[in-house]
Amino acid sequence: RENILEIKNLSFSFKTYGGEVKAVRDVSYNLKKGEILGIVGESGCGKSVTAQCIMRLNPEPPGFFEGGEILFKGKDVLKMNKKELKELRSKDIGFIFQDPMTSLNPTMRVGKQIEEVFNGHKDISKAEIHEKALNIMKLVGISDVEKRFRQYPHELSGGMKQRIMIAMALVSEPSMIICDEPTTSLDVTIEAQILDLLLDLRSKLGTSIIMITHDLGVIAKLCDRVVVMYGGKVVETGTCDEIFYETSHPYTSGLMHSIAGLETDKDTALKPIAGTPPDLFAPPKGCPFAARCDYAMEVCQKNPPEQTQLTEEHMTACWLQHPYAPKVDLRMARKE
Ligand code: SF4
Ligand code: MG
Repeated sequence: RENILEIKNLSFSFKTYGGEVKAVRDVSYNLKKGEILGIVGESGCGKSVTAQCIMRLNPEPPGFFEGGEILFKGKDVLKMNKKELKELRSKDIGFIFQDPMTSLNPTMRVGKQIEEVFNGHKDISKAEIHEKALNIMKLVGISDVEKRFRQYPHELSGGMKQRIMIAMALVSEPSMIICDEPTTSLDVTIEAQILDLLLDLRSKLGTSIIMITHDLGVIAKLCDRVVVMYGGKVVETGTCDEIFYETSHPYTSGLMHSIAGLETDKDTALKPIAGTPPDLFAPPKGCPFAARCDYAMEVCQKNPPEQTQLTEEHMTACWLQHPYAPKVDLRMARKE
């Protein structure tokens, strides 16, 4: 399948009074047409910053690109002018945030906020915009759309507000959407409904989706492929099955063991990964995970691990792949 997005060797930092924060370091991944790609990692691993780079949403300055390319449909976002970026943000790519309350305008009827997306698009009439707004509200599973259209955010439940956010992201019929922890503030029932909705949209509209989450349960339910990030870097990528059952990076394995009941014995105790993520003011020279890794060797402190391609989709950046390294099995048992 064709790539809709290719991120190549991207590095992005922030200038602060304390020095430069190396938030994203040499990150590469791609998104195929109609694919749902999960980006997983702890907070501060660079998953949100990378995704925001795709739409140039990080303030520049203090943020700045140190290198790399972000090709959306073959065109480098880093070289786009203001007009092209506006087009990219309002038409081509939709963005769904974690907390709908901070992104919805409390003083404006929600239907109008959906219509606002078309501000500045001259080639479409008011009546058409209104019809599009109502249709998209129906598509995201809102009933009684005329009534909902006239309501204010505070009159709606958390799940309903998130549906409005999704409607706003989808109304311009973008070919790609980025979801940053879209269900984190919702209860599990509503979360399941929103995830079903995203799956439904992909099959109906062929939308390509990037799902950023720290929740492997969300990944398992939704994603075709997964990118695991740690300390501003990509440490492992693979199909969902490869990440869950052929785990090849100690950090990914640590993430698996830190969640209870996922494809494991229900009795398995929750075992958080000990230690804290690396200081991104002065990122470690070698492997970013070395300070917390049970398998760290001398070489891990000194040199960054090379990326090893295990299958067509499965890549891991770990010295354990070196032919002279001890053999370690990080895989979890498959549930019977
Ligand atoms: Fe652990 Fe070394 Fe692999 Fe890093 S490279 S994850 S420190 S074994
Ligand atoms: Mg985040």
